[in-house]
Amino acid sequence: MGGFRMVGWNFQWQPGKALWSLRPGRAVCVVMTVLFWLTGHGLGWGFDTVVIDPGHGGIDPGSEWFGVQEKELTLDLGLRMERILQDRGFKTVMTRRTDVYVELGERAEMANRHRDAVFISLHFNATMSGEITGVETYFLSDGGMRLAQVVHSHLMRKLNTRDRGVKRNSLKVLRDTKGMAILVECGFISNRWENQRCQASWYRQILAEEIVAGLLRFR
Ligand SMILES: [Zn+2]
Repeated sequence: MGGFRMVGWNFQWQPGKALWSLRPGRAVCVVMTVLFWLTGHGLGWGFDTVVIDPGHGGIDPGSEWFGVQEKELTLDLGLRMERILQDRGFKTVMTRRTDVYVELGERAEMANRHRDAVFISLHFNATMSGEITGVETYFLSDGGMRLAQVVHSHLMRKLNTRDRGVKRNSLKVLRDTKGMAILVECGFISNRWENQRCQASWYRQILAEEIVAGLLRFR
C-alpha cells in the first residue's frame, strides 16, 4: 500500500522498509506533544474500573432541603452511572448501593484495592443562602485535576447552571485515595429551583451521562 499525507508530514510505508520524512520544526513539535500527552495521562490512561462513591448514607443523610436528603440523590445518581458504565464494558465498584453508612476511610480503601481505577465521589451542595446555584468539581492530585477538568467541562456543556469551577481541595476521600480521584458537587439543593432539578430523574440521568462521557473522553 502507498502512504498518507498530512500538512507537514510525508509518511511512506513499503514492505520491509519504513521511511519517515518530517520537517525538523514539526518533528520537535510532534515529540513534545507525544511526551506531554503521555505524561499528561499518567496513571489515568487505560483505567478499566470506576469506583463510584455515592456520598453520605445511613445515619448520615448529608444536606436536607425541601424534603429531599442528599444521600438519596447521590445513591440514585451512582446507580445510574453504574448502569451506563457497565453497558460500555467498564468494571464498576460501588462504595455503597443501599442506604447504609460507610466511613470515608473505608470508601478510599475500596478504591485503593483496584490498581487501574478512578474514584468518583458524588455529592449535592447546600448553603444557608438559598440564592446560590451551580456545579463544582474537586480534585487533589495533578492527575485528579485533569480528570476533574474533563468531567466538569462535560457537565457544563449540558447543565444550564452556574459554573463554579474546578478546585483543589484536601477532602479526606481525595487525600486517602491513591489513584485518580475527584468529587463532584452536582448542584445546590438549598436553592429551590436547583433542588427541583436535582429531584427530577431526567436531571440525574443527564448528570450520570455527562460524568461518564467525561470519563470516556479522559480515558
Ligand atoms: Zn455531601
